[in-house]
Amino acid sequence: MAKIEGQIERRGLMLVLSSPSGAGKTTISRMLLEDDDNISLSVSVTTRPMRPGEVDGVDYFFIDPDEFGLMLNRQELLEHAKVFNHYYGTPKGAVEEALSGGKDVLFDIDWQGEQQLKQAALTDLASVFILPPSTEELARRLQNRASDPPDVVAARMAKAPDEISHWPEYDYIIVNYDIDDSVAKVRAILAAERLKRERQVGLTAFVKRLREWR
Ligand code: 5GP
Repeated sequence: MAKIEGQIERRGLMLVLSSPSGAGKTTISRMLLEDDDNISLSVSVTTRPMRPGEVDGVDYFFIDPDEFGLMLNRQELLEHAKVFNHYYGTPKGAVEEALSGGKDVLFDIDWQGEQQLKQAALTDLASVFILPPSTEELARRLQNRASDPPDVVAARMAKAPDEISHWPEYDYIIVNYDIDDSVAKVRAILAAERLKRERQVGLTAFVKRLREWR
């Protein structure tokens, strides 16, 4: 359980961020994590090749398909999905450890993962879907990601309408016109979600102490 306001115990929260590839979700996640010590990123495993600049164990755990199969068989993944011909999955252990240590956990996963997490629901889950301001802007952002070859960019663009169709399955929707503004919105969602009455499990004891004071 985490302490907030210095005294009230609260339950950890699972915050899911999803978007079509290139809408800015990974940048938003990084900025959110930078200045909030109470939330940590769930680092997924993936069978996709590492992009330049990515760090094994930080961006993903890069593993081969055999290893992925083993993790799946050993039931070490909370959820998994095939995205763009590669496998992705959320390792169970790290998430359970963070939540039991009272930390919130951020998931940068797709809609398939969000649906499975909702079912696995170790604790409460809040979900945010990020939309690009326009198709042109999405294409521009994907093309600017120099690390991806043109066929990968084209495949991601082709899949965008399908991914976007899942927006109604999310609690909050943000159109990413401006990255700083979008990060501020995600921070506001997180702040409000943390204040939900049912998550502040220490409130009864706290209010009891307040009322006992004369
Ligand atoms: P990328 O290859 O661009 O890093 O990620 C491709 C897509 O896979 C993104 O939409 C990302 O959110 C999603 N993804 C990354 N990790 C996971 C995971 O562990 N589970 C699921 N379901 N999706 C993931």
